[in-house]
Amino acid sequence: MSAPGTAEPAAAAPGLEAAAVTDVGTEREHNEDACAVLVEGGDCAVAVVADGVSSSAGGEVASRTAVEALLRAYRGEPPSLAPGQRLYRAVQQANIEVYDKSVVVPELRGMATTLTALAVAGGELTAVHVGDSRLYLLRGGEMIQLTKDHTVAAEKVRLGILGRERARAHPDRSVLTRSLGRELIVSRDRITRRVGGGDALLLCSDGLYNVLADAEMASLLEGRDAAAGCRALVDAANQRGTGDNLTASVVRLGGPPPEPEPAAGIAAALRGLFRRGG
Ligand code: MG
Repeated sequence: MSAPGTAEPAAAAPGLEAAAVTDVGTEREHNEDACAVLVEGGDCAVAVVADGVSSSAGGEVASRTAVEALLRAYRGEPPSLAPGQRLYRAVQQANIEVYDKSVVVPELRGMATTLTALAVAGGELTAVHVGDSRLYLLRGGEMIQLTKDHTVAAEKVRLGILGRERARAHPDRSVLTRSLGRELIVSRDRITRRVGGGDALLLCSDGLYNVLADAEMASLLEGRDAAAGCRALVDAANQRGTGDNLTASVVRLGGPPPEPEPAAGIAAALRGLFRRGG
C-alpha cells in the first residue's frame, strides 16, 4: 500500500507491470485517498483506488481500511476462483469492515469511501466499482472510461436532464449516490473486458481527472512505464494546482493483443439499445 507522496515500486512480471502513486495535492493537509497494487504469479494484477468521503469524519480511515481489507479479503478467497470473482467478493468484505468500524467507533460514524478496483489475468479484466473514482482503458492512444460515476450530476446526465459540459461545473458533481461503508450491503458495478498487449489501465481519483483532461492523461502515459506514468500524472496535476488529493494507479499489459469481445447476447443487445449516453 502506498504511503502519501510515495510511489509503489513498479511490480515486475513478464509482460505486466503495475504501480500506484497517491499525493496530498497542493492545498490540503491530509490525504484521504489510498491505493495499492498486487501482482500475483506471472500475469495477474490487482489494483485499487479509494477516495474517502471528506464530509464524513473518518474519510482517511475509510479509504485506508477499504484498501487494506480488500487486499486481505482477495488473498483469502480460494485461488480456485477466477480473479474477478475473488475481487467481487472482496469488495463486499471491504464494505463490511468499513461499515463495522463506522458503527463501533463513534468518531467514525457515517464514514465512507469510493472504491474502484481491478483484477486482470489471462487477458480478462474485471473491475468492481462504487463511487466516482474512475477506471480508464488506454488503447491506441484513446482513453476509454469504463466506469460510470455514481454522482448526482452524472445520474442527471444519464437521464438526459443535464448536459455533459454543465455537469463538469455542477454543484452536485461530487455528491455521491453510492459509496462503500454506508450500508451493510453495497451495490457494486462489475465491468468485464478483454485486454491484451499494448493496453494500459488507469485507476484514478477525481482529484486527478478533474484537473487533467482525458487527452492529457493519455499523452502523459504514452511511452512511460507504469511507475513513471503515475508520477507524471500526479506531477502535472500538482503543477496546475489542485484543491483535492491525487491518486493514479497504472497497469500495463504485455503479451498478445486483446481478443475480440464475445458476441453480445440478446439481453445485452437490448440493454445497449435502450441505454442512454453516459
Ligand atoms: Mg477526491
